[in-house]
Amino acid sequence: METTNIEELIKKIIIEKLQGKEETPQVVQEQKKAKYPSGTFETVDEAICAAKNAQQKFADEPLLTRKKVVGAIRKAFLPLIEEIAKRTVEETGMGVYEDKVVKNRLVLTNTPGVEDLYTEVQTGDGGMTLYELSPYGVIGSIAPSTNPTETLIGNSIGMLAAGNAVFFSPHPGARNVSQWVISKLNEVVNETCGINNLVVTVANPTIEAAQEMMTHKDVNLLVVTGGPGVVSQAMRTGKKVIGAGPGNPPSIVDETANIEKAASDIVKGASFDNNILCIAEKSVVAVDSIADLLIFNMEKNGALLIKNKEDIQKLEKVAVAGGEHPNKKMVGKDATVLLDEAGIPYTFKPRLIICETTKDHPFAKVELMMPILPIVRVPDFDCALETALELEGGLHHTATMHSQNISRLNRAAKAFQTSIFVKNGPSYAGVGVDSEGTTTFTIATPTGEGTTSARHFARRRRCVLLDGFSIR
Ligand code: NAD
Repeated sequence: METTNIEELIKKIIIEKLQGKEETPQVVQEQKKAKYPSGTFETVDEAICAAKNAQQKFADEPLLTRKKVVGAIRKAFLPLIEEIAKRTVEETGMGVYEDKVVKNRLVLTNTPGVEDLYTEVQTGDGGMTLYELSPYGVIGSIAPSTNPTETLIGNSIGMLAAGNAVFFSPHPGARNVSQWVISKLNEVVNETCGINNLVVTVANPTIEAAQEMMTHKDVNLLVVTGGPGVVSQAMRTGKKVIGAGPGNPPSIVDETANIEKAASDIVKGASFDNNILCIAEKSVVAVDSIADLLIFNMEKNGALLIKNKEDIQKLEKVAVAGGEHPNKKMVGKDATVLLDEAGIPYTFKPRLIICETTKDHPFAKVELMMPILPIVRVPDFDCALETALELEGGLHHTATMHSQNISRLNRAAKAFQTSIFVKNGPSYAGVGVDSEGTTTFTIATPTGEGTTSARHFARRRRCVLLDGFSIR
């Protein structure tokens, strides 16, 4: 198919040359594009220009077309989940294959589409006013290395459902799998609605290319999923930004909790995909009277307890860089890799490493994104809440809590003000795993949208009709 396109283009150019015609810029552009996979362009400007043209065509289509596009993405990608998971683990060297299968399946099946674009209406003697959610145009979306394909797929569903085109800046560390997914997304969309380049990227997705995209005049909205640096960089552009930044989620366990279940939930959440999710439990703050029982049950659920101070120090040398950053080489690695690197022996294959630390230890303060979970012991719930708030660091991203005391749960929910607060479950319940609620891997805390979906990728517009259509 692609070869035919190239041959046809070459023929067209030769004929135009023979006829003495100049090569039109469009033909040159088409020819360049044919060298790359579907939706992939040599320059940022070419990609955004193509996306802009495509979005203008898409805007003329009925909502049914968008529904078909979303349905086609779900159908086409479901059989590819295992391959996507395999390629992601191989390329990034992070996470767990089985968990990536779960995440990709969830984002495909549980990300809302066009139905998320609700309409509001007010009617009265003055007439009728509608509030509708319209497309922005071209969205520039930046994806992280930790959920690379989940972000591309989830953002595509939501952004296309809202009538936009999207330019993706994938993380260079997940470049191959991301470009493969972006190209496939564009192919599926094109085959479904006959509009090419609604999902585009650039052949060489560098940081510089991402920065060029951020300031491009035809990008109408930036959706940035990543660490603190890239979110603040996007905010400096002066454009509308949906910023999904870092978190450091604590998990409070008080003496009223079902301790066996709390231990099992925490191990499941903190070990899921080797803790690279921004929502994953990064520390436990346990009330002293139940801390031993909690640790005992965490061990029963596959965690390895490190007690020896020297071993904890060895692990710190492996996991933390400069006292306040994760050692990038160790992010998302299996617990056994971390133990081997630290020279700590083990007798079974643990899913998670746990150890008791103070609240000031780097394991508790730094967003490690590794299967290492510090447990901070506190005398009572008041102290637990205070400590957990300190560890969350005012990011307002995610927190979890295990308790049967409703007023304490309510107090913590109000105090944390996090985008996600999971009570009596693993952190991943906050993105729809084994729980109610839709799925997203773009949790926009700094800009306030929280768990994003199609409605956030649309402009709320007010459409006023005077003197009529109030039929009460
Ligand atoms: P990262 O910040 O290194 O990279 C994220 C993206 O930003 C990549 O595409 C990268 O190429 C790009 N980027 C980085 N610096 C840039 C710059 N100066 N200019 C332009 N582009 C730049 O993050 P990561 O290591 O890929 O992902 C992990 C981080 O992302 C963690 O902090 C995690 O909490 C956060 N995260 C947040 C969410 C959320 O929904 N809130 C979801 C996933 C990850």
